[in-house]
Amino acid sequence: MKIAILTSGGDSAGMNAVVRSAVKAAILKGCEAWIVREGYEGLVRGNAEESPIYNPPPATPYSDFPEAAKNIIKNLRFGDGQLLKDGTGDYASGRSLKGRYIVRVGWDDVRGWFSEGGTLIGTARSKEFRTREGRLAAAHNLIKEGIDALVVCGGDGSLTGADVFRAEWPQLVADLLVQGKITDEQAINHSHLKIVGLVGSIDNDMSMTDLTIGAITALHRICEAIDNINSTASSHSRAFVLEVMGRHCGWLALLAGVAGGADFLFIPEQPPKSKPWEDEMCAAIHQHREVGKRKTLVIVAEGAHDIDLNPIRAEYVKDILTERLGLDTRVTTLGHIQRGGRPCAMDRILPTLQGMKAVDALLAADPETPSYMIGVQENKITMVPLMEAVAMTKAVSTAIEERDFETAMKLRDPEFRESLEGFFATSTYPQTKKLAPSKVLLVSHGNAFLYTGAPAGGINAATRAAVRYCIGQGHTPLGIHNGFRGLLDDELGELTWLGVDSWMARGGSELGTNRTLPSIDLGAVAAKFQEHSLNALMMIGGFEAFTALQIMEEGRKHYPAFHIPMVHLPATISNNVPMTEYSLGSDTSLNALVDACDAIKQSASASRNRVFVVETQGGQCGYIATMGALAVGAGLVYTPEVGINLDTLKRDVRFLKARYKLDEKGKAEGRLVIRNEAASSVYTTEFITKMFKEEGGALFDSRSASLGHTLQGGIPSPMDRTRAVRLSLKCMAFVERHHDLLMQQPQKTRVCTPESAAVITIQSSSIAWVPVREMVEHADMVHRRGKTVWWADMKDLAEALVARPQLGALH
Ligand code: ATP
Repeated sequence: MKIAILTSGGDSAGMNAVVRSAVKAAILKGCEAWIVREGYEGLVRGNAEESPIYNPPPATPYSDFPEAAKNIIKNLRFGDGQLLKDGTGDYASGRSLKGRYIVRVGWDDVRGWFSEGGTLIGTARSKEFRTREGRLAAAHNLIKEGIDALVVCGGDGSLTGADVFRAEWPQLVADLLVQGKITDEQAINHSHLKIVGLVGSIDNDMSMTDLTIGAITALHRICEAIDNINSTASSHSRAFVLEVMGRHCGWLALLAGVAGGADFLFIPEQPPKSKPWEDEMCAAIHQHREVGKRKTLVIVAEGAHDIDLNPIRAEYVKDILTERLGLDTRVTTLGHIQRGGRPCAMDRILPTLQGMKAVDALLAADPETPSYMIGVQENKITMVPLMEAVAMTKAVSTAIEERDFETAMKLRDPEFRESLEGFFATSTYPQTKKLAPSKVLLVSHGNAFLYTGAPAGGINAATRAAVRYCIGQGHTPLGIHNGFRGLLDDELGELTWLGVDSWMARGGSELGTNRTLPSIDLGAVAAKFQEHSLNALMMIGGFEAFTALQIMEEGRKHYPAFHIPMVHLPATISNNVPMTEYSLGSDTSLNALVDACDAIKQSASASRNRVFVVETQGGQCGYIATMGALAVGAGLVYTPEVGINLDTLKRDVRFLKARYKLDEKGKAEGRLVIRNEAASSVYTTEFITKMFKEEGGALFDSRSASLGHTLQGGIPSPMDRTRAVRLSLKCMAFVERHHDLLMQQPQKTRVCTPESAAVITIQSSSIAWVPVREMVEHADMVHRRGKTVWWADMKDLAEALVARPQLGALH
């Protein structure tokens, strides 16, 4: 099969990762990979007759591969396709592409693409393709090159165009045949067009997927701007009105509002309910100022309007704040800044996985199957009928146009709705406190990270959300400083609404962390619970917090004080808490790794061929190393789960030598190897670096870099902050529910169920509560990680995406 990949509509970060992975997946599966430049415009223009069509050298048949290489390939569970031994095509070689829009590409053409923003193959809005004539030309151009499988990455317009093209294809082929432009054989061989769509859009405006490609990077850009604005706003006690993109979808504005701790926001799906909305906004902001806030932030989505659909503009909001509240107010419009820039970690990882899935979908497609759109739900790559998703997306716009905002909200995914609830719960000062149900809630940070006692991005945001929710509900939130040690030393106090205001963007741990477990003196810990009349406990931390929960749950046999609802919200950069696919802090950490590795790779390529062995934290869990390798294109990954032995090292030296021999002469290449700190106690980072240096000889040099504590990241990523809010509020709902159940029992004999001591987890795209007793069964307590992990296959995948075509040279 010949597969062509194009990007269309507005550009977004992550499109290059899609192209890279789809090209590589196509080659890995024995297909030819082609690129269409300039979106549909390139399809319509095709290749000028006189321009030479580049043909990479003949492929090496799989049957000719040495046995060792075949075994590795089998283990990778990819098909027995043919491979391009010399992967360099026109892009990498710099050959002229003038007059050629449909270009065959090889493996190395797309090397390193995913660290670049936008789309390197160009995108355009094509008027011609909207016409039948244009699509006829496009069909002709594809058939001339023998292509009838298309990967389209673009917005809903581009995906609609793809669907129209597919539906029309048989008729287009018939017309071309009648016009004598194609032969009978071509018509028969290309009677069916296979297409698959991926959503590249910074607005996150497509239904049936949690995330569109580029949306998280855009959110990063917005949050960077907010964090910068916040300091000046606070210094001058100013108000800022920030306009962000989103004509029909308020996702960027909403998530930025949650992550940035905004005071008020305007999104198309849910305009302010009251009339005039100016009063509602001014009342909320006035209240925040009364409580003592020195800064004000209002976020306006580009497509914001009131309930009568009158546009709400940032300038107008500014005038209101200035005139009515007397605030020194400024407007910042971010515009195209939101589109650009290097993709964040998730906009490299998810598009990589989606691009691979797209190729699978094309290989499985037949004339009867619908065209699919590749999406994502939490960590899971999904496939949904493309036109269903487009229709649902359009239904949101229609609902908004009809002022049916309830339906518009229902049509958005649950995360969107929960984020909006989260915004109101954490950003609005409670006007009237509910009657205090005399609860006291204890918010504590367990130890976030075993080796260093280090914090993880998002724990302050989670605490802030819990504290504000509690205050809104009439509970009293207590913060314990320095974990269980702090509790025993009475280092605890009430947390206030204003006190936690700036915690959203803060790294580190405002409450401090400590490794001490309650087993240090379980009786004394129980006594402190009693002394402070605690009604519930929430712990935010890593494996330590999970262990602490287990100890206290068992301690219920002896200590009635532990008969309260207790939850653990996993937060650790290692992501080693069993049964959950995600822990707070792991996204921040991956982004820190991506930043560092991009810089290292650049340095490694600057002077001579150099292999950098990068050491990561992670304890006995290889998550950061593995996902980091996938995000930065590291060719080799060493994890504690797989370990290192002499055979691996010999194979890896052979690979590096073979790879450097294939590189273009005179051009320095940097390569990355990622090694988790605990991958082996013998084959250390220093050992491996020296070994590569020695073995590399004249071919390549080697250096090491230890990322150490930089992986905790400075400022938490937007994803860690927004997830922190969402998960934290779910934890609060959990403790309230179990507290109510407990209160229904007679006071003297109140006993908690095992379910009331639980960990909040994310499993296969949904949130699940797992009682700590059950968690223990899934935990490898010796190595402090889960017994099984969802990302186990990613190591092979990361290595395959870099190494695969060179395996033939390993003998
Ligand atoms: P963005 O979200 O950035 O606007 P988009 O993919 O929605 O991206 P559009 O301009 O709507 O951007 O569409 C991109 C291209 O897709 C158009 O220029 C056109 O060539 C093609 N296209 C869109 N809709 C159709 C259609 N109904 N029929 C044929 N082609 C279409």
